[in-house]
Amino acid sequence: MSYKSFPKVELHLHLEGGAPPAFIAGLAREKHIDIAKIFDERGNYIYRDFDHFLKVYEAACTTLQGPEDFRRLVLAVLEESAENGVVYSETFLSPEFCGGGDVAAWSDYLAAITDAADEAQRKMDITLKGIITCIRHFGPEQAKTAARCAAETKGDFITGFGMAGAELVGRPGDYAYSFDMAREAGLRITCHAGEWGGPEMVADTIRDIRPERIGHGINAYKDLALVDRIAEQGIVLEVCPGSNVFLNAVKSWKDHPISPLMERGVKVTVSTDDPPFFRTTMTKEFDMLHRTFDWDDGVFRTLNKTALDAAFCDAATKKRIAELLEAA
Ligand SMILES: [Zn+2]
Repeated sequence: MSYKSFPKVELHLHLEGGAPPAFIAGLAREKHIDIAKIFDERGNYIYRDFDHFLKVYEAACTTLQGPEDFRRLVLAVLEESAENGVVYSETFLSPEFCGGGDVAAWSDYLAAITDAADEAQRKMDITLKGIITCIRHFGPEQAKTAARCAAETKGDFITGFGMAGAELVGRPGDYAYSFDMAREAGLRITCHAGEWGGPEMVADTIRDIRPERIGHGINAYKDLALVDRIAEQGIVLEVCPGSNVFLNAVKSWKDHPISPLMERGVKVTVSTDDPPFFRTTMTKEFDMLHRTFDWDDGVFRTLNKTALDAAFCDAATKKRIAELLEAA
């Protein structure tokens, strides 16, 4: 059986990381950019290891050169999501890659992105909200630029602020200023931690950045006292099992801590991270969780409810999505 048509809520998706390879190959052809070597003979992204993955990702992103490309990207990504039953999605956006961090340039990109989100809502009945992320390995100074862009363009579409990039660069406290700025502007907070870093990275992130949600967070499982604190504080984990297994952050599906974390009372959700790069979709995530842990419709409904409760959107949107989930 497959969970393809089962409605889904996704909270952790990098917009450029969701770019279907055929879409990127098409853009490359239009612009005469030669990136043939990042695809295999079947047209999938190909790479050797995590470092090479980052290079391939960067090469794919060279085809995205202006607001119009991002408008098309949003539609291509949401078409895939909708095809896999996703009814609500939140995506990470980086002003650094959209106008170099300049607020005016970023606003042009954002206009194109929200335009595409509106079109997808009308045509595919899928709702998208945006979370601006700073890039950890660009350093704390540049993070402030991203936070400023987030604060200036906060609204119905941009509802959150977060941090992606190389987790082992710097300490969470180095970025606290940017997160405080975003929080004061009324943005909701999430942060990648505990994918490559250990439980102490998760603990420092909670102490210094005070997020409502943590991207991945799976390595918290190596410290059960920390797991209990996460459960008590109601911090939600944006878990991406397929990504973790593909990148070898976790050995196999059966070794993935998502099930024990949930059993210990942590609020977990399921997302794809960078789906075509990790050869996954939301359908595959649900199917593999069903196969590995015997999760059934009831568990998946709980996952959806947890994700919707933790979503960074307004109450009216939550109500509308809740009705959609209940009707299914
Ligand atoms: Zn991520």
